[in-house]
Amino acid sequence: MTADVHAHTSYSDGSGIPLMVDAAEAAGLDAVGFADHCSLSEAWRDERLLWNRNFDRTHERRREALAVAADRTDLTLYDAVEMDYEPELAPAIGDFLAAADFDYAIGSVHYVAGKQVFPFESFDDASDAERRAFVDDYYDAIVSLVGSGLFDVLAHVDLVENHPALSGLTTAAHRDRVAAACADSRTVPEINAGRAGDRGEFDLFHPTDPFAEAFRDRGVRFVVGTDSHDPEDFADRVPRLERYLDETGIEPLPVESLLGDPPTATE
Ligand SMILES: [Zn+2]
Ligand SMILES: [Zn+2]
Repeated sequence: MTADVHAHTSYSDGSGIPLMVDAAEAAGLDAVGFADHCSLSEAWRDERLLWNRNFDRTHERRREALAVAADRTDLTLYDAVEMDYEPELAPAIGDFLAAADFDYAIGSVHYVAGKQVFPFESFDDASDAERRAFVDDYYDAIVSLVGSGLFDVLAHVDLVENHPALSGLTTAAHRDRVAAACADSRTVPEINAGRAGDRGEFDLFHPTDPFAEAFRDRGVRFVVGTDSHDPEDFADRVPRLERYLDETGIEPLPVESLLGDPPTATE
């Protein structure tokens, strides 16, 4: 593994660019793509302000910063984004991505119908049927993301599996729908090592094994991301990902395959 398509900086919830670049280099990477969190959601407007998720307003400054950083390292740095996807916002996201012109765009579903996918969201009061409905809605949003054609990369496809109240609710039908959508799309799923094993609540690689199988059955390829937020994440996650690639025999696509303009709707 020489390239990591998914890391964060202090332009969202990661660490300072020089620290991240040095750590990526020390972990043996040749290239790293910084994909800071970006959301256009009005519903999360206050939370976005509180949690510094205003990359839609700061991405040009980060681009300048990456140009400075690139002059000081042998690493190839990519100017990317991790965009929160909501089906209703697809037109606005398309306009934003076309104007911002990142090297590539990662699409993520972090919340559905006003609820976060993460473990800090409580589903204690939700019935089994409500939990299943939430997971159905989550995969509807994933399929919509892939079908939108807006993204180069699909992040952490089965993130719901990391929620203790939702884990195990991903079905073969969900996996098959998403894999079929990816097989028909330019959007490449990511193997994401985010928080794998080191912070308790996020113990899994994404995709989990049966999901990776569903993709491979359809000939879908992958890119690889550490989802590093802190410098020390690289040293932990790069070797973990390398072991995973060794064990599974998966050969990731090069980052170069993500670059270049997306095809327009008429092509
Ligand atoms: Zn994410
Ligand atoms: Zn991320």
